[in-house]
Amino acid sequence: MVGPVVGTTPDHDMTDEQRVPWVLGTQLHPGAGPLGETPAGGRVLMIEAHAFARRRPYHHQKLTLVFAAMRQFRDELREQGYDVEYIATETFRDGLARYFERYPGDTLVMMRSPSYRSGPRMAELVADVGGDLAVVENGLFASTRRAFDEWANRTDLQPFTHENFYRWMRRESGVLLTDEGTPVGGEWNLDDENQEFPPADWEPPDRYVPDHDDLTADVSDWVGAEFDTWGQQEPFEWPVTRSQAQSMLDHFCTTRLPEFGPYQDAMRSEEWAMAHALLSPSINLGLLHPWEAITAIEETFESDPDVPLNSAEGVVRQLLGWREFMRHVYRHSMPELATANQLGATQDLPDFYWSGDTEMACVSGCVDDVRARGYAHHIQRLMVLANFATLWGVEPEQLNEWFHATYVDAYHWVTTPNVIEMGQYGHGVFATKPYVSSANYIDRMSDYCGDCKYYKTKTTGEGACPFNALYWDFLARNEDQLRSNHRMGLMYSHVDNKRESGDLEAIRERVADLRELAADGEL
Ligand code: SF4
Repeated sequence: MVGPVVGTTPDHDMTDEQRVPWVLGTQLHPGAGPLGETPAGGRVLMIEAHAFARRRPYHHQKLTLVFAAMRQFRDELREQGYDVEYIATETFRDGLARYFERYPGDTLVMMRSPSYRSGPRMAELVADVGGDLAVVENGLFASTRRAFDEWANRTDLQPFTHENFYRWMRRESGVLLTDEGTPVGGEWNLDDENQEFPPADWEPPDRYVPDHDDLTADVSDWVGAEFDTWGQQEPFEWPVTRSQAQSMLDHFCTTRLPEFGPYQDAMRSEEWAMAHALLSPSINLGLLHPWEAITAIEETFESDPDVPLNSAEGVVRQLLGWREFMRHVYRHSMPELATANQLGATQDLPDFYWSGDTEMACVSGCVDDVRARGYAHHIQRLMVLANFATLWGVEPEQLNEWFHATYVDAYHWVTTPNVIEMGQYGHGVFATKPYVSSANYIDRMSDYCGDCKYYKTKTTGEGACPFNALYWDFLARNEDQLRSNHRMGLMYSHVDNKRESGDLEAIRERVADLRELAADGEL
């Protein structure tokens, strides 16, 4: 059995054979929630619904991943003796109607999906077809909803600040904590030790690549024939079974973890994976419980002197801190968060987010990575793709849709706070300023600028890097909302200088040119 470690979940009493776990496609863990309490031989429901996959052009590999992992999980449960009722159909309603026709007296027991209103929606569907449903806590997170809410209500701190939340989670879980309750190494957060750029002769450590069987290959072909997808079918290298995900975690701990820490934020055009764990698709599907990954990281840190603290803490911060924080922010800020747009951004997402057809080497490089595998790491997401969209003034909802469709680890609860709030400063629930930068940051943390047609140090005139003019134009354009932000004071003193010197006029002209180039497909 696995479950949250911060907060407790009640037993689900699965001894009555008519209480049947309904396992969703993102809950593929044999030891979590109601399924973990169901004895072998018991009935299990899985519904493979296809209608969602027709709603937007999902990445080919994302659909392959979800459907192959579900079918693999079905077969594993059957091998373990479970009686799996696996219904492939268009909608959940169809699947539920078929199930209750066959087993009219059953009560389904479902872990709550983190997606907004999924619990009530599923309850309505089940009621519609005359069945019974119990919705219970999702055991695939490290903290419970109730534990967060109780802490948020009693703390004097601002609960929607990641640092406060993260420290609370470290204290409650005991991860990387001394016997005195202080952080191992003396600091809670080593983010400033995650920002080195590797030397030219650095080679990233080996990656684990699973061997896929015929079932997965067949699903991949079927996805191509059945759905309108985006992105490449191959190379498909994501784990689709729990044992593959465990192998990826083991391999990460033994091979990649030491170098993850220092180069966590670095981007190299030829190294899409750098030393990243690449575990988010597996964890978001339930193939691994986040706590399994956290404890493996901590144990490796304690036993392997080659693993530096900035590596171990860097992963723990993502899994125990950021991932959990995103989930709680999402459920407290929906539905407003999905359409939040406090800066009033109205531009459409440029076509090159789909085509990769732009002269900006950083943007085209990141889009190419996403097209190849449905993945680009967190700094590519935040400081290239979301940064450009924010500077350009893209309506946040459109960028969120793009991330949701194109990334293998993206689900609405993950992307909405990450993209709309963190990436585009759409709401203000936790971001205290927009995460925007000129070419300066991208040049410092990547090798993209060296091969780019644009000049990273030029702001105006032909060939000047678009990020530079857009950056100053963004600040000037949003001055009413941002100038009073004390974290932006220095930036606005530069805006004032540019206004006084007349540079702002030239910047605006450059931005107008950039928008024309984009309209002609020539940016
Ligand atoms: Fe990106 Fe500008 Fe650097 Fe080109 S010069 S890679 S557009 S930041």
